[in-house]
Amino acid sequence: MRYCPACGTPLEARPHDGRPRPTCPACGFVYFADPKVAVAVLITDGGRVLLGRRGNEPGRGRWALPAGYVDRGEALEAAAAREAREELNVDVRVDRLVGLYSAAGDPVILAVYAATIVSGDPKAGDDLEAIGYFEVDRLPDLAFARDARIVREGASSVRTPTRRPSASW
Ligand SMILES: [Zn+2]
Repeated sequence: MRYCPACGTPLEARPHDGRPRPTCPACGFVYFADPKVAVAVLITDGGRVLLGRRGNEPGRGRWALPAGYVDRGEALEAAAAREAREELNVDVRVDRLVGLYSAAGDPVILAVYAATIVSGDPKAGDDLEAIGYFEVDRLPDLAFARDARIVREGASSVRTPTRRPSASW
């Protein structure tokens, strides 16, 4: 934001609550940049996790958990289900929150949900070039370093296979 939304004066960086923030020298408006919220979907099958190869920057050509931004007014669980539909072409049941992930200097707060496919076979949808299941301890080249930690933490607590072969019964 470069101009004051109240009076149109160019904003200047001035210290406020301990850090420089865009401030209007005319009327005193202070712009507080909000974090962005994104959701990622952790779908496991036995010891494997479903990842997508990204078609866009950042991380184009590398693998990541299916993820996207939450719309204003959208419930996190609904956003997780929507991302699964858009990126994987499946309907999921959102099972539980795996965790919230944030880092100093990163504007994005990521909420990760474990989910189970209830209908459809995953196919690469919006923004993905391919999808695949990977062993948790043999992940491919990841777009985001934190995904490795998320998968480790998430998969170790989501040991229930989503679709175990049922040949024996
Ligand atoms: Zn102003």
